[in-house]
Amino acid sequence: MAANPERKPKVASTNGTHLSNGLVFAQRSPVFELLSKDPSSRARLGRLHTAHGVVETPVFMPVGTQASVKALDNRELLEMGTQILLGNTYHLSIRPGMDIIRQAGGLHRFMNWSGPILTDSGGFQVFSLGKIRKIRDHGVEFRSHLDGSPIFLGPKESMEIQRTLGSDIAMVFDECPPHTADRDEVNRAVKRTLRWAAECKAQPRAEGQLVFGIVQGTHHADLRKKCAEALVEMDFDGYAIGGVSVGEPEPEMMKAVEISEPHLPENKARYAMGLGTPAQLIELVARGVDMFDCVLPTRVARNGTAFTPKGTFAIKGGAVKADFNPIDPTCECFACRNHTRAYIRHLLNVNEILGLRLVSIHNSHFFLKVMDDVRMHLRSGTFGEYRRQFIANYVPTEKVRAARVAHEARMQTAPEAALE
Ligand SMILES: [Zn+2]
Repeated sequence: MAANPERKPKVASTNGTHLSNGLVFAQRSPVFELLSKDPSSRARLGRLHTAHGVVETPVFMPVGTQASVKALDNRELLEMGTQILLGNTYHLSIRPGMDIIRQAGGLHRFMNWSGPILTDSGGFQVFSLGKIRKIRDHGVEFRSHLDGSPIFLGPKESMEIQRTLGSDIAMVFDECPPHTADRDEVNRAVKRTLRWAAECKAQPRAEGQLVFGIVQGTHHADLRKKCAEALVEMDFDGYAIGGVSVGEPEPEMMKAVEISEPHLPENKARYAMGLGTPAQLIELVARGVDMFDCVLPTRVARNGTAFTPKGTFAIKGGAVKADFNPIDPTCECFACRNHTRAYIRHLLNVNEILGLRLVSIHNSHFFLKVMDDVRMHLRSGTFGEYRRQFIANYVPTEKVRAARVAHEARMQTAPEAALE
């Protein structure tokens, strides 16, 4: 593909102009437009304006942690309807490093992606990958997961990297405590997250860059409320629900969203970080979430697992050895239009790269198509029925099913504890 000069922003600095002295000129148009609300749930249809174009919500954002959505090129991403990509502050700051990004003219130019990009602040990686960390007032001291070299990352550093990357949406640097953390630990993490959010807000931004706050607080409703209200007071461009997708069972994840969302303003986008399966995404849309990112489509593709409207299945299994149907007969992706299960299974079994590329194409397309259908049904007022049918057809994995059964059992025997 011929090199594309960076597309001119469709929307000129929708967020006003942020000056390095912290002043902001008046906004010309809202960052987020709420177009309609679903009568049967808390689902919303919206439009998010960024410096590199408009994003129709609810939206699924493919994850390009290392400036690449694993195994997929930009042409494929555009063909399948990708509106916005994710990049990661921590990983990109280590490799290729900000000198290279600066020389390239920012992340959009470096990876030749002219649409919107959201960058994760690195907080999650620091707390999950980093070794021997010391939490300081203004950030975290830890060692690189690659070579053990010392790194300091805090609100100031994270925002500086995100400014250099030139992302359309920067995330605040937060502390994400494990879902098993005790209340005191969570409370400390919330306080730190709020202090760091204020520090992030005070940093200079790239032109037109939006900044989202992140609500933490694990399963504690009062801490989530406190965190959300304080962030809303700071007036961010959008809000994320963090501390989900950290190994907690599904009912706990749903609850974390349910206890955070009511405290977020209606006129700003809400983003649930790192989630989930297609059925979970639909349930989260119904709980008022507008934006999602998840590595599942490409991660499970590498094990030969495909998503379908009936749930996942393992293509590597012998059952499809002579199955000359596409992965999903209803799917219009490149893999399903051109290749059979038997062929893709063969490619995976002989470790041909094309095998995992085709499954990655199908899975990513599937997630994007689900969100496309969600938007269509929200527009036509039929989301409730679509949701009911999708959930009825979609067979969850054994792990998700077991977590639901355990939650139901707790609700029967000790409802107070289950709802705590
Ligand atoms: Zn397909």
